[in-house]
Amino acid sequence: MRRAIPWPHRRAVLRGLVAFPLAAPALAQAKPRVTVVGGGFAGATAARVLARLGITVTLVEASETFAACPFSNAVIAGLRGMEAQRFGYDALRRDGIVIAQQTAKSVNGPGRSVTLGDGSVLAHDRLVLAPGIDLRLDALPGYDDAAAAKLPHAWKAGEQTVLLRRQLEAMPDGGTVLMSVPANPYRCPPGPYERASLIAHYLKTKKPRSKLIVLDAKDAFSKQRLFQAAWAELYPGLIEHVPLSGGGKVTAIEAETGTLVTEFGRHQGAVVNVIPPQRAGAIAEAAGVADRTGWCPIDPTSFESRQQPGIHVIGDAAIAGAMPKSAFAANAQAKACAVAVAALLRGTAPPAPKLINTCYSLVAPDYGISVAGVYRPAGGLLAEVDGAGGTSPAGASRDTRALEASYAEDWFKTITAEVFG
Ligand SMILES: Cc1cc2nc3c(=O)[nH]c(=O)nc-3n(C[C@H](O)[C@H](O)[C@H](O)COP(=O)(O)OP(=O)(O)OC[C@H]3O[C@@H](n4cnc5c(N)ncnc54)[C@H](O)[C@@H]3O)c2cc1C
Repeated sequence: MRRAIPWPHRRAVLRGLVAFPLAAPALAQAKPRVTVVGGGFAGATAARVLARLGITVTLVEASETFAACPFSNAVIAGLRGMEAQRFGYDALRRDGIVIAQQTAKSVNGPGRSVTLGDGSVLAHDRLVLAPGIDLRLDALPGYDDAAAAKLPHAWKAGEQTVLLRRQLEAMPDGGTVLMSVPANPYRCPPGPYERASLIAHYLKTKKPRSKLIVLDAKDAFSKQRLFQAAWAELYPGLIEHVPLSGGGKVTAIEAETGTLVTEFGRHQGAVVNVIPPQRAGAIAEAAGVADRTGWCPIDPTSFESRQQPGIHVIGDAAIAGAMPKSAFAANAQAKACAVAVAALLRGTAPPAPKLINTCYSLVAPDYGISVAGVYRPAGGLLAEVDGAGGTSPAGASRDTRALEASYAEDWFKTITAEVFG
């Protein structure tokens, strides 16, 4: 087990992680205990920062290895193997974090404990919930686990990603691929359009008589002008995007025949990718931190639940104001939350964070675009700092787009090394 870093040095450790200073009076003699539920981009990051701050951390994670969603669209397009997406927890163990490979089943907020799938009970001083998303299968008639085995969502990476890849490989040239995209909010706002782009790349290079129809429950989407300009340049006539106002909202699924029903008609596909509406992972509702939207309202400085004191929610599960649900954002929120939790355990006020997010998307293997933003607490939410962000320029050269594609890969290598390496 790695020795806890003495307090004077902890500032230095954190300097690389967070964009604000940390007050450093010592914690009380007995080491405080924090349980983190969910070992994804948010939870694993929070666990590591908390451990470096001298806190005893147990990370509850259902899976032995984590399957990352960023770059999983490249797996679907055959540009990358699924093994490049999988990460273990040994580095966290070396940090002294106890990994409980269990599903957290229930939370006793006032009693400060979490009950796991094997019946054991973990006591904590503070709890961090980072369960990511669950799919709202109730929101799309005809779509359930059995339907997902035929018409994959691939919105949680792993078997579903590989299934969608295999279906595309097995599809004869000339087939129609359908995608159904939900209304906001959902995990990774530009993700469906990156997926459409990379599927189009696969079809253009391997099955050029095929086409892709994207049925969308909204009219506007992230980086829309950049995506649509790139589609016109790279994939003319291959992608048909049907917005909400054109009848794009899918209202029912007929899994047996691969049919998507919209308000305006019916579409049948040889391969059908259904991205359903989403909500916070189930443990959030069990803990009483999710509101009627299915997501978790939080204080934007401490990430403490507005519904349950002592429980913090980070990553996709949280309502983070203007911040999108991304791995980049989850990682940034986790650092700020860990610092806030340490401050609260010392009885001091958490510092107000400034958080950065950048979402890269690949439109082709050598064609990347991005959107960036800076966020800070304002009006009870995380608000975007005016003028601090922006998107890739329209009309940039192919060299610039190739450079952004390489930045995207570098970002993935860096974040996964930081979180799991
Ligand atoms: C196709 C696609 C592409 C994407 N591309 C990008 C990208 O390029 N850049 C980017 O920044 N983001 C991207 N994202 C978004 C990114 O994957 C998510 O925003 C990010 O994973 C959120 O992190 P999280 O920790 O909140 O949730 P997750 O990473 O999903 O982690 C949640 C973890 O909690 C565990 N868990 C849940 N409930 C329990 C429980 N009760 N007990 C124990 N464990 C539990 C799960 O097993 C899981 O490991 C993409 C998403 C998709 C779908």
